Amino acid sequence: MKKYIISLDQGTTSSRAIVFDKNQQIVGMAQHELPQIYPKEGWVEHDPMEIYATQYGVMVEALTKNNISIDEIAAIGITNQRETTILWDKSTGKPVYNAIVWQCRRTAEICEQLKKDGWEDYIKEATGLLIDAYFSATKVKWILDNVGGLRERCRRGEILFGTVDTWLMWKLSQGKIHATDYSNASRTMMFNINTLQWDKKILEILDIPESMLPEVHPSSHVFGNADILNNAVPIAAVAGDQQASLFGQGCFEKGQAKNTYGTGCFLMMNTGSKPCRSKNNLLTSIAASTKENCVQYVLEGSIFSGGSVVQWMKDELRFFDSSAESEQHACQVNDTGGVYVVPAFTGMGAPYWDMYARGCIMGITRGTKSAHIIRAALESIAFQTHDLVDCMQKDTDIQLTELNVDGGASGNNFLMQFQSDILQIPVRRPEMKEITSLGIAQLAGLAIGLFKNLDDIRALKRNVTVLNPEMEEKKRETLLQGWKKAVSRCRDWVEH
Ligand code: ADP
Repeated sequence: MKKYIISLDQGTTSSRAIVFDKNQQIVGMAQHELPQIYPKEGWVEHDPMEIYATQYGVMVEALTKNNISIDEIAAIGITNQRETTILWDKSTGKPVYNAIVWQCRRTAEICEQLKKDGWEDYIKEATGLLIDAYFSATKVKWILDNVGGLRERCRRGEILFGTVDTWLMWKLSQGKIHATDYSNASRTMMFNINTLQWDKKILEILDIPESMLPEVHPSSHVFGNADILNNAVPIAAVAGDQQASLFGQGCFEKGQAKNTYGTGCFLMMNTGSKPCRSKNNLLTSIAASTKENCVQYVLEGSIFSGGSVVQWMKDELRFFDSSAESEQHACQVNDTGGVYVVPAFTGMGAPYWDMYARGCIMGITRGTKSAHIIRAALESIAFQTHDLVDCMQKDTDIQLTELNVDGGASGNNFLMQFQSDILQIPVRRPEMKEITSLGIAQLAGLAIGLFKNLDDIRALKRNVTVLNPEMEEKKRETLLQGWKKAVSRCRDWVEH
């Protein structure tokens, strides 16, 4: 009987596979680390063959370890690190270069040139994105410019482009599927989010032949069959990781939002059927799409240093041995004693956009204990989220009524209570930790009819912890003022 859905979650640092049953409970899981390649300062690559091998390996392991046979798998869903770029030879299936990872800054100069040439407004309007090396477009151009004879081979139709979802589908289907979904396409900086087509103008500017680009479909869609140990298994959903998490959080309606507290934090709001243009440098992308709600747009903002400030206190300041212990330390004191930590390790993102800012610990006295600093560092994650939520509310004219949370640091109750206090709205944390994988499994379930519609998914039992705001308004205002003052002291720190 086909009773399970398997989610493949191909992330930046690992490949994971999770098997879900009909009630969306986890029945099997496997994970393998993905080696990082750093050829030069600021460059980051992955070996595409390793991406595929680790992903295939964990899929088989999640099944065999749990005595699940491949005939019991009704569908596969794929969610992935976004923007990472792979080009390969269509006939041999061999990559022509390593995968250029989203974090890689090698195309910063190409981006500067695009800005100088005056393409900023056009690209923002067409793709919803700000010109940046993160996105796939300039990475594709870089590979075409730097691998000898490649453009010619492209023009002859011999080379294919894909983000990680596309590469995995192509490999799993033995080269039969060359496709992606709207959510991944919307992060390439080549896709027009208004017309839902590859943008011919941008392709022309970057000299990228359209023939190498994949077909684009809704996220919840039967893309074709994977051939696994001679069994045909439908690939029934594809979505970028942040969009899969938004779906897994049940944010199907305009105005619902989630924040993922990982190394960095990713805040995303569903803004409904029209793209919302940000005045605060937030990005507009496409949500995970189903037949029912077709194309919905999202507004997205990220915090560069979220959980990483906790990691820094663990690894560098040696304040504790595990990130989770930060909570006990923070709770040993009633407040930070006036201390603020601004973790601007690599500058500040929205709404500040100051690449020259650097971190600081402010307001220390002889009485300051490490617990005060730990508490202040945790609070900084909530303050940064507050600033981003503020931008999003201004851009959308929507007041958030609650925030759905996930990611490693969302397990910290002190942080989540403080988040609720500072935002003055309830924070909702699902018991299910694997929200991204759950989201993609649900999208796959919809495509194969396991769920009739979104109501079937809404009806699934979800255990959620809700933290409600408790702080007095006056105290909140004082804290926010202090935060603003601390941030202002870190601005523009690096000489430039
Ligand atoms: P990623 O997917 O970015 O690797 P995770 O979602 O696994 O991240 O979260 C890991 C990050 O969250 C690390 O930076 C870690 O320090 C932080 N973290 C994990 N658990 C806690 C906790 N209980 N309290 C505070 N920070 C935490």
